[in-house]
Formats: sequence, structure tokens, C-alpha cells
Amino acid sequence: MTETLAQNPAELVPYGGVEADAAWFDEVRRLASERDAVLLAHNYQVPEVQEVADHVGDSLALSRIAAESAASTIVFCGVHFMAETAKILSPGKRVLIPDARAGCSLAESITAEQLRAWKAEHPGAVVVSYVNTTAEVKAETDICCTSSNAVEVVRSIPAETDVLFCPDQFLGAHVKRETGRENLYVWAGECHVHAGINGQELAQRAAANPDADLYIHPECGCATSALYLAGDGAVPSEQVKILSTGDMVKQARQSSAEEVLVATEVGMLHQLRKAAPEIDFQAVNDRASCRYMKMITPAALLRALREGVDEVHVDAGVAESARESVRRMVSIGQPGGGE
Ligand code: SF4
Repeated sequence: MTETLAQNPAELVPYGGVEADAAWFDEVRRLASERDAVLLAHNYQVPEVQEVADHVGDSLALSRIAAESAASTIVFCGVHFMAETAKILSPGKRVLIPDARAGCSLAESITAEQLRAWKAEHPGAVVVSYVNTTAEVKAETDICCTSSNAVEVVRSIPAETDVLFCPDQFLGAHVKRETGRENLYVWAGECHVHAGINGQELAQRAAANPDADLYIHPECGCATSALYLAGDGAVPSEQVKILSTGDMVKQARQSSAEEVLVATEVGMLHQLRKAAPEIDFQAVNDRASCRYMKMITPAALLRALREGVDEVHVDAGVAESARESVRRMVSIGQPGGGE
């Protein structure tokens, strides 16, 4: 597989020196057509990459589009595990990520080796992994889940069977609370961006904007606080919505709210404002920007199309096992789109 090279996003220097002007836009579109490539962009990408892409969405929706597309090449503007998932679901296609260093602190918080050791401590347990995991971890997993169907996936497992949930502790806490399940063990991983959106900040913003709806991604450190605020009556419970990124866009389209506070990566605001321009969307924490996602610069995208890099490879045996856990995820409930 293509290696993700860096653990510390602060040390990464993205490809630069290219302005995202009209000439860039036309050249990207021309090369995509010449290379028979479909351009996919995650909701957290910079606005110009979202605008030049053929499709914008959440990780699972994009992987499905990739599998159904007639194009022979997929250019996945997102982070590495997302491009890998597209490769797992489309083994016959060429999958490129414009910068293979675009990792994910959450996916890197558990390795296949660590998961194997954890499984050995809990023989007979069923492993449920969030989609933000490497192909190798998916291959060790029984059922993958998204934030939309994590609760249903866990409920589908017999009550007496132990469940190992990884890698996100906040999503795991949400599932444990919803299912009331004592035999659910949660891995202590987290995304540095979502964990940085804290409950205190959310409470302050909610108090200052009492009429605003709250859209909370369940990976956020503030998800528990949001439910507490609702339970406490500080914010009416109908104003608190725990949503995957794909479901945030759907909710925005049907909302009559005038103001919405959004607790997730700030790139999400671009799609929300496009979906419902009449709503005032504000970030709970406007510093919540993922450096890995922002590695996919206009220069990196141009490089990918010109040079045919960075290609994503997944070992065939790993891909087959991983595909099975992803297939189970898709068959349970409404999988939505994950991150
Ligand atoms: S926002 Fe967090 S979970 Fe998403 S890609 Fe970045 S590091 Fe990973």
C-alpha cells in the first residue's frame, strides 16, 4: 500500500505555488477528461477543490460513486483511508490521491497489530470499526460502521456477545450511551481536530445564540456536552442534532432554522452554505481545520493529474477481507456517509 508518511500534521509542507484561478480550473478539467478520471472531493476539502470536483460528499457516498463511475481512474481528494476504501470497493480501477501524506490522526490511532492484540484479550468478541481506519484494520474487523449506523450495527450483535469498538472514543461513548451496553469496550482513539471542539466552547456559543440549531458530528469532544445541554434544558433537545457530514447537508436542505452552529471541521461550512444560503451557518470552533485534508492543494491536484501520482495500492488479500466488513456495514440500517 501507499504509506502515509507523517504523524504530526504541523510538520507537513503541502505542495504550493499554484493559484486556483480560471486557467487552473480549465487545466484540471481538461486533464481529468484526457485521463478518463472522475474527481471526488470530501466535504472538508478547500472550497476551490470542492468546486472543480465532479462530486462532493462524505467518505462512503464518494466511495460508492467511485464504484459506480464508468471512469477508469478515480482521483480522491480526501485523506488516505478514504482513497483506500475507494480502492477496496473498486479493485479494478486506478485510484490516485493528490498527496499520499494526507493521513488521519483517527485512522492512525489503532494499527492492525494493536487490534489483533486487543482481540486476543477478548476471545469471541465482535469487532466494530468506524470507517476512519486503514485497510489492514478493516481486514481485522467484523463489521465497519459509519456515524449514522453505529448504534444499529451494535444493536444487531447478540446482547450477550462482547463488542470491541474502535478507534474513536467519542463515537464509542455515544454508542455506549445509546445502547446502554455494558459489554461494549471502546478504544481510546481520537481525531485531533474533532477532539479540539470542546464542551465549554459549545456551551458558550449556545448560550450566546439561544435560537440557533446545533449540528454536532459525533466524533466531537463536545458531543457529550451537547446531549447534556439538551438533557439539562439549556438548549431545547429538538435544536441539538448529532449528524454525519452527509446528513448535515440533508438536514440543512429541509431546515427552517435561521442560524446553525456547526461542530465539525470548518470545510463543511462551504457545502452547508451552498445547500441552504438563507441560513447563517457558524463554526463552533473556527480553528477546527484538518491539516491533512488541506494537504490536497490546487498544486497537488494538478500534479496528480499531470504525473499520475500518488497511486493507492491495497494488497488483494487485505482488500478482500476489508471488503467483507464494509459490505456488512452497508447492509445494516442507514449507513449514511461516515465522516
Ligand atoms: S478531521 Fe480528523 S478524522 Fe477527519 S481526516 Fe482529519 S484527522 Fe482524520
